[in-house]
Amino acid sequence: MKYLVLLSAIVLAFQSSRWLSSSPTQESQPAATTALGRAPRNIILLIGDGMGIAQITAGIYSSADKLHLERFPITGLMKTHSAKHLVTDSAAGATAIACGCKTYNGAIGVNERKEPCPTLLEDAAAAGMATGLIATSSITHATPAAFIAHVSKRSEMEEIAPFFLKTRIDLLIGGGLAHFNQRADGRDLIGELIAKGFDVHTFQQRPLNQCQPRPERPFAWFSADKEPEGVHKGRDYLPLAARMAPPFLAQRSERGFFLMIEGSQIDWACHKNNGEHAIREMLDFDQSIGEVLRFAEEEGNTLVIVTADHETGGMTLLRGSDKKDLKIKFATLYHTASMVPVFAYGPGAEAFSGLYDNTELHAKLKTLLTLNAAAAR
Ligand code: MG
Ligand code: ZN
Repeated sequence: MKYLVLLSAIVLAFQSSRWLSSSPTQESQPAATTALGRAPRNIILLIGDGMGIAQITAGIYSSADKLHLERFPITGLMKTHSAKHLVTDSAAGATAIACGCKTYNGAIGVNERKEPCPTLLEDAAAAGMATGLIATSSITHATPAAFIAHVSKRSEMEEIAPFFLKTRIDLLIGGGLAHFNQRADGRDLIGELIAKGFDVHTFQQRPLNQCQPRPERPFAWFSADKEPEGVHKGRDYLPLAARMAPPFLAQRSERGFFLMIEGSQIDWACHKNNGEHAIREMLDFDQSIGEVLRFAEEEGNTLVIVTADHETGGMTLLRGSDKKDLKIKFATLYHTASMVPVFAYGPGAEAFSGLYDNTELHAKLKTLLTLNAAAAR
């Protein structure tokens, strides 16, 4: 079994040597060795829901300081279409990244035939890595759900919640408490998390800044019964969660960790065609990226990827804009088919330059996860 895993990792590394090699023409070094040398111990994936080029541009020009996003050495572009639609929803978009399969809009961790597909988080957990999910939506919402759950419809949040008890998850921070403790089936999933050893806190009991996760126990903090408020109403936990989670997860496993952090509400602001709100959510997300980068710079063996599931609103900045007065317009109340950027920092980052599909982003991350798992054995 051990050798089989190692062998498949080497095969994967050879297949991906084209993008793992820093120079495409250089073939003097064996690909597996090069790749193994570059596989990161930890992977932190940050998804700005609905964050296209214009959302980032608006963030850049409305900020006095440079954004943390401007510090990434590697950038790429990603196509976001789902199986049958050029315009994806967040469920199919996140499933493509989490599982590597194009699926129908609304699908959570299932393929077009509604069969469960393994996710990066499940792969990491199976390899003995620690895992975490953080969102500014409910934790059962489409984007985080697609990394841990397998259901045919994104609206089935009661069916999504029990998946948090099935897979190894070391840290979860987000809204959606009611899907755990006020359920139609009467199950008390908070009690079940506590029985599993979780340290569980809720927004009613204590704010996140008064919680001190201890490495001996998995940690859960719920920010709201359903959906948390926007950052414009004082919701402030995302940068704090982004600071807290990486060192905590690093202590939870010697084999490293996989963490997904979502800035969920950039999308919601753009659905409302509210440019100012979108900028505030964008800057909150960028601050969280800064927290993650600080950890990655100090730790040295962490790959940080920032991207989006799709663009929302067809947002643009018009003539007459200046830094104090951005003329923001939107083309739609829904998502668009525009490509989204990918930013990469850390070991393996160079694999993420170029123009590719969201399922290919998955393939790159999966290869690096597999190489890390093989190297840990
Ligand atoms: Mg989302
Ligand atoms: Zn949306």
